[in-house]
Amino acid sequence: MQGNFREHAAVLRRLGAEPVEVRLPEHLDGLDGLILPGGESTAITRLMRLYGLDDALRGFDAPIFGTCAGMIVLDRDHLGLADITTRRNAFGRQVHSFEADLDIGHGDEPVRAVFIRAPWIEEAGADVEVLAEVDGHPVLARQGRILVAAFHPELTDDTRIHELFLNQVREMTNVRA
Ligand code: GLN
Repeated sequence: MQGNFREHAAVLRRLGAEPVEVRLPEHLDGLDGLILPGGESTAITRLMRLYGLDDALRGFDAPIFGTCAGMIVLDRDHLGLADITTRRNAFGRQVHSFEADLDIGHGDEPVRAVFIRAPWIEEAGADVEVLAEVDGHPVLARQGRILVAAFHPELTDDTRIHELFLNQVREMTNVRA
């Protein structure tokens, strides 16, 4: 609809996946997963409603990865597919963008994350697993097939977050097959 879809498609291609741009409900047919990119959540929400993609997404049962504005669109106040509330522009209007090293656990190298007028997760249901935080605020989380990130993994060369998502996609494709 809007936002960084080209950048996400480039990372997916690099990792051997075949990206398809989704603008209409029928574009979802046969997809193994979906990324909702960052951009402007108000614009994305408006366009999704206009094209009927909001209802179509409520019936889409494959893994979904929402980044930044895409995370907002998945929350309780929008599509309701992730059991979270988000706070828009949470890090303050003055702080338009910053980078931070995220501890993702397992003794892994930290992830360098780019935040642009980013939201954070304000509240999360019991099924939501927080995977990384900044200053005590969740910025990466998973709830079953749904993955959300407050930052922009498509803007760095580190492909681990996309790989995390593609692993979820592969696992679910195997389960369904
Ligand atoms: N501030 C934007 C919003 O509220 C999100 C910013 C982003 O996606 N980089 O939609």
